[in-house]
Amino acid sequence: MGTKPPSYAGRACAGARVPALPTLLVAINAVLAIPLACSGREARRLNVLLISIDSLRADHLDCYGYRSATGAPTSPNLDRFAKEGVLFEHAVSTTSWTRPSHLALFTGLPDVAHGAVNDEKGLTPQCVMLPEILQGAGYSTAGFFSGPYLDAKYGFDRGGGFDVYENASGVEQQVEAAIGAAVKSIQSDPDLAPEEKQQRIRAEVGKVTEDSYHRASTANRVTDRATRWLDEQKGKSAPFFLFAHYFDVHYDFAPPEERYAARFWPGGQRPRINGDDFFTREDVEPAMSAADLAGVKSYYDGEILWVDEQVGRLLKHVDELGLRDDTLVVVVSDHGDEFFEHGTKGHRQNLFEPTLEVVTMARLPGRLPAGRRVAQRLSLVDVAPTIVDLTGTAAVADRGAARIEPLVHGMWGRSVLPLVTGEEKGDRDCLGYLFNLWQEKGHPIDVWALWTGSRKVVVTRRFEFEDDSKQNAPQVLRLKLLERTGLLFDLANDPGERHDLSSSGAAADAAALVRFDATFAAGGALARLLDAFEVGPPPPPLSQFEKLALENLGYTQADLPKPFPKGTALKLSLLPLPQFPR
Ligand SMILES: [Zn+2]
Repeated sequence: MGTKPPSYAGRACAGARVPALPTLLVAINAVLAIPLACSGREARRLNVLLISIDSLRADHLDCYGYRSATGAPTSPNLDRFAKEGVLFEHAVSTTSWTRPSHLALFTGLPDVAHGAVNDEKGLTPQCVMLPEILQGAGYSTAGFFSGPYLDAKYGFDRGGGFDVYENASGVEQQVEAAIGAAVKSIQSDPDLAPEEKQQRIRAEVGKVTEDSYHRASTANRVTDRATRWLDEQKGKSAPFFLFAHYFDVHYDFAPPEERYAARFWPGGQRPRINGDDFFTREDVEPAMSAADLAGVKSYYDGEILWVDEQVGRLLKHVDELGLRDDTLVVVVSDHGDEFFEHGTKGHRQNLFEPTLEVVTMARLPGRLPAGRRVAQRLSLVDVAPTIVDLTGTAAVADRGAARIEPLVHGMWGRSVLPLVTGEEKGDRDCLGYLFNLWQEKGHPIDVWALWTGSRKVVVTRRFEFEDDSKQNAPQVLRLKLLERTGLLFDLANDPGERHDLSSSGAAADAAALVRFDATFAAGGALARLLDAFEVGPPPPPLSQFEKLALENLGYTQADLPKPFPKGTALKLSLLPLPQFPR
């Protein structure tokens, strides 16, 4: 991506709109943003290191209570880190897949608000990204990622907030070679029309890229690149924001050396089935034996151990540079993986706990108490406002926040410091969302989850497409609601989400359902306020691989087939909304 000049610092609050707001939205965000002065020298000195470990279930780390098949720890470095800072025992993601959960991490907004709910949807224009804020406050900013959904084309470099934003996986060289061969073969096929060639090439690029990322081991490269960048910051007066994204725990579960998995082999024996092709192979299925499943999990745990080692190396480097006391380090995961607890494997399938409970820990010597464990529930959307809070950059955040009044700093999440100090006692209500265009027999579905107190409400809606085009106007596809089904769990007594209490009639259960309807309305209102679902923004620009493949054939992006016909506006209507209870 290269180096870019800062662009956020001077940006005015143009485009601020002040629409009539639903009462509830105002109530939820009753405290309007009050510009705060930057807290001077201290704020300028504080560095931030944000580490994301993809697909890491919180309950597979010893510090979150895990015990592996052999008793060997999966995460010695992260366990040590937890003792040096604060561990949040019940942090939940906003969804169960990579792109929207990371965008929630960066924007402080739930998925219905940032709007990037599938591959094609862009970020809503009103979002402000954490790197933009910190860059605007004078930080040097860099991001090194290793998974395909973190590519800049998916919105991660929005606003130009990263001075440097790079794919550190090293996978691109492998992909380039494979794509070159594929393009040659498709191009020389005389039976294919030009449009078919384009489609085949796009599909091939996607497949080769995905396969390569799933199989490669890249955590060492992320640490190498991140440590090198840290070295380059030596002697500079600006504080830094460094984002490091580790993808290796994501399937396939194929650690770089077998010894990582062997430490967790049940009975010390090499399992019959390893972690290769976890998502696609058919013998990894709900009816597989417990022994075989334990074998597969030993490879998942092996990947965790490998990534833990690389995260440990990065943290050690921070120490060696003498930066420990001046650096806020936050470690999160974006979602987990399911091993058939609810009948499916992997992620992006549902909003149950195995894929929603995520790792969240933070260390800042002198400011965050060592060894503190926070039991209250919170969300990944609370991470960005916490970083804004600790770095004293609220005033800068508010410069952009006017665009989405009345959210505080333009974010739905809130700083977690009151939870750490004990000032705030209860669980936070958390909102989850998953949109899948084609999941059930060609019908789009969306899933909403609300965690409120010990209760969790999960509502799934099934839609069908309806052509809503006016004559002689661009085609409009609207989603028509077919059915809505709800589940309610008491996580305190039923962490496995087995017993649906939605018709129990108990007061606490009924209250949770009312709360869901209210939050659903607020989330929907926010989404409409931000036009998150209303406008089909242009498709994301091409990745470097797609560019490479298409340039070989002399195509440009304008020639590409779009997911929907030109001029189609996909209206993801959130209506009908339930009535706000009075
Ligand atoms: Zn992910």
